[in-house]
Amino acid sequence: MLGSMQDWPLVVPSILDHAARFHGEREMVTRSVEGPVVRTNYAQVHSRARKVAKALTRHGIKLGDRIGTLAWNTARHMEAWYGIMGIGAVCHTINPRLFPEQIVYIINHAEDRMMFVDLTFVPILEKIAKQIDVVETFVVLTDKAHLPQTSLRNVVAFEDFVGDVDDDFKWVKFDENTAAGLCYTSGTTGNPKGVLYSHRSNVLHAMAVNTSDCIGARSVDTLMPVVPMFHANAWATTFACPMTGSKMVMPGAKLDGPSVYELLDTEKVTITAAVPTVWQMLLSHMEANDLKLPHLRKVMIGGSACPPSMIETFEKKYDVEVMHAWGMTEMSPVGTIGSYKADMENLPWPEQLKIKSKQGRAMFSVEMKITDDDGKDLPHDGKIFGHLIVRGPGVARAYFKGEGGRYGTDSILDKDGWFDTGDIATLDELGFMQITDRAKDVIKSGGEWISSIDVENIAVGCPGVAQAAVIGVAHPKWDERPLLIIVRKPDAKVTKADVLKYLEGKIAKWWMPDDVQFVNEIPLTATGKIQKVALRQQFKDYKLPAA
Ligand code: AMP
Repeated sequence: MLGSMQDWPLVVPSILDHAARFHGEREMVTRSVEGPVVRTNYAQVHSRARKVAKALTRHGIKLGDRIGTLAWNTARHMEAWYGIMGIGAVCHTINPRLFPEQIVYIINHAEDRMMFVDLTFVPILEKIAKQIDVVETFVVLTDKAHLPQTSLRNVVAFEDFVGDVDDDFKWVKFDENTAAGLCYTSGTTGNPKGVLYSHRSNVLHAMAVNTSDCIGARSVDTLMPVVPMFHANAWATTFACPMTGSKMVMPGAKLDGPSVYELLDTEKVTITAAVPTVWQMLLSHMEANDLKLPHLRKVMIGGSACPPSMIETFEKKYDVEVMHAWGMTEMSPVGTIGSYKADMENLPWPEQLKIKSKQGRAMFSVEMKITDDDGKDLPHDGKIFGHLIVRGPGVARAYFKGEGGRYGTDSILDKDGWFDTGDIATLDELGFMQITDRAKDVIKSGGEWISSIDVENIAVGCPGVAQAAVIGVAHPKWDERPLLIIVRKPDAKVTKADVLKYLEGKIAKWWMPDDVQFVNEIPLTATGKIQKVALRQQFKDYKLPAA
């Protein structure tokens, strides 16, 4: 027997309809790429998104066509998103930090018919224009006055694009499983692979992210996604905020400590989200200038492991709750949330810090387990490491155009529908997961695994250390031993002996790095993760002192 409730499709444009109808006056504030901070609201964003939809239709864009965006977090970018998705076209967010040849590859692979591009990125496109002739029109997210002289063909300013039409447009009707967004993973090996979100998966994911143990934004909140819209939908905040009527603050192109601080402070932001490197810049700025953020109540940190020292600074020095989260592009992207369970609220701080330093527990709509190399389930005892595998309605089952499929199909799942995240993790009795490494980065010493992430996390707490990375280096007796690579804070004089002394007692003896090397810079991926492949390459001729 079927239920007799209404068949209301879970589609993204209905989120913006809701925001305009019931929270139309709520602001969206942007640090514009042109410079000034500009203000709009959900009613206007809704109106202009429908203009985008109408203009796209006039340009012959149809259901299923891919439209690229190469843009920062701004209100115009949101208008483009909802306009594209509102006609059933696919919004393909492109990470501008990728290498130009990767950008060429994914634009062609996606067959983007049109591109919305910020002023900042016009030069990138000019350099590759000849290789991306699939793109028919470039819409520069600015007005005519700011439109630069450009060698790109078929260029139009966004304000003219929307200015030529009215907003009398009804969203196109389509099934909730229609593709809404496309985001390529910035894999370190092979070509990037496209994750194709559906309207249904985006709506369900935004609802899950909106639960109180996760981002939990309320209509009274002001949320600033510092995490870019091109990094897995700005962790769903672009859907979660209009769903609840939270005010949004969009940081545009300036993600340095002072600029992020200024917006958090002046716009009285209550919730924010980004990768640890962003927060490191903010905290250095606040510490150097003795600043506070009295309005900020929650910071979501993920994308790479959040060091305990950062959690402690936010929570104890600035009274801001840290919500450590883990996820991936293939998971829409949030998988776990590091909020306490009831019995954890009164634990002493050192124990709470241990819990917060883990990546958290599965939120509803994510199933998760760890397995051994043969796919056998491993116990949840918080000690045994295994392959972290997941499934759920927000998890990809295939990559765009079937790339990377297994077992002769385009499916990337095993026979029971599980997706291998490529991460190695432990799961404890209470369901808290801790990432120890990417499978390809684990260090195997004497047959046992050493967690490079654990060592890195503790090392960055050492005074004078700005960044830390651990890689495995060949060793005649133990196969591999850990090498710790450090970037010092400006003017810091921290030595190898200081760092090793700091680690003593905080990690198992046999995890102690065999050596410490200091460098000026640690290579990062386009999404701010340590590029272990490049580091291993850099140290390929290095020999450990004892080896
Ligand atoms: P991406 O698809 O670019 O978001 O990258 C996903 C990967 O980032 C995951 O598979 C993890 O390896 C890593 N990652 C994300 N969040 C965390 C976290 N909180 N701690 C450690 N690694 C993380």
